[in-house]
Amino acid sequence: MATSLGSNTYNRQNWEDADFPILCQTCLGENPYIRMTKEKYGKECKICARPFTVFRWCPGTRMRFKKTEVCQTCSKMKNVCQTCLLDLEYGLPIQVRDTGLAIKDDIPRSDVNKEYFTQNMERELANSDGTRPGGQVGKATSSSDMLLKLARTTPYYKRNRPHICSFWVKGECRRGEECPYRHEKPTDPDDPLADQNIKDRYYGINDPVADKLLKRASTMPRLDPPDDKSITTLYIGGLGETVTDGDLKGYFYQFGEIRTITIVQRQQCAFIQFATRQAAEMAAEKSFNKLIVNGQRLTVKWGRSQAARGKEGEGLTEMGTRLDPVPGLPGALPPPPPLDEEAPANYFNLDPSTSPAVMNLTLPPPPGLNPPPPGKLTTNIYSHSNTSPCMKR
Ligand SMILES: [Zn+2]
Ligand SMILES: [Zn+2]
Ligand SMILES: [Zn+2]
Repeated sequence: MATSLGSNTYNRQNWEDADFPILCQTCLGENPYIRMTKEKYGKECKICARPFTVFRWCPGTRMRFKKTEVCQTCSKMKNVCQTCLLDLEYGLPIQVRDTGLAIKDDIPRSDVNKEYFTQNMERELANSDGTRPGGQVGKATSSSDMLLKLARTTPYYKRNRPHICSFWVKGECRRGEECPYRHEKPTDPDDPLADQNIKDRYYGINDPVADKLLKRASTMPRLDPPDDKSITTLYIGGLGETVTDGDLKGYFYQFGEIRTITIVQRQQCAFIQFATRQAAEMAAEKSFNKLIVNGQRLTVKWGRSQAARGKEGEGLTEMGTRLDPVPGLPGALPPPPPLDEEAPANYFNLDPSTSPAVMNLTLPPPPGLNPPPPGKLTTNIYSHSNTSPCMKR
């Protein structure tokens, strides 16, 4: 090798060749054995304008074809998906993520400075072990309560649906059932990809979706401790199949001594009784609306007081079945969360009428919830596209 990568801007070696795209779980789609086409230097990156390797794939049946939009250097600099530009860890727009982590973007916008910056960055990334994102994101040390509240823990495949048929909207589509586009009323005000400037989203400015999310985060509900100071028990809901008492102990011991953890399998919930009220209050404050264990977002509420328990009939659940009383437990369970079947576009768990934890209860837990780390995708790459049930734009 005569020259190292990035030593000459006008040299082809500075162009990006990649074997795997860096994608979030949503953009990748449900099928882990997806077919992809790969085109070396297929397009200019929409941020740095350097030619890069473009991947195209269909993320599922009746979904629209997707392709990578920005190069891997730009993606790594911000730790975002190459296609949707949402943060790979939290699934949130860059502006929200950067606000949460108190990161200030230092990427220059002018062409010459940008080129120089990108080159330096590329060198820095090449020398790193690849376990941390590059740029300011990699340097961020604080974690943010707000990000945990807003974070998506499950992929949102609806985001991959075809675009809305513009002919149908005007009443002019003649293709009927055959039409590959969606015959639906526009428009999803929450669609993070609708009518947004890709550069603004990348630099984290003027992003209307981010503004909305940040506003909502500031008005999210709080969990007030009950007046009855004898209550030291928290209700943890939405455990699913995977969360065990060991997981709960592993998380909650940091707040103080735990007296008991009781799991109620049938209700997929648990009661954690702390030795002190102080520990319980601390645990409630730190975990309410932001507790994610094994990829499951858990509901946190306070246990009921003795007085409330007496009124509701000891040992009776909402179903009316009698359970063996467990010593030291609050009797009645909190009412089950309202199940919201098909929530409208809710990209970020943010329906003000239901808590984020409740939203996730309605979703089946798919395997592999976290976005795959760069370079570790289990995709099968073929160099030729095949006939597929998906439509092409
Ligand atoms: Zn780029
Ligand atoms: Zn994505
Ligand atoms: Zn149509």
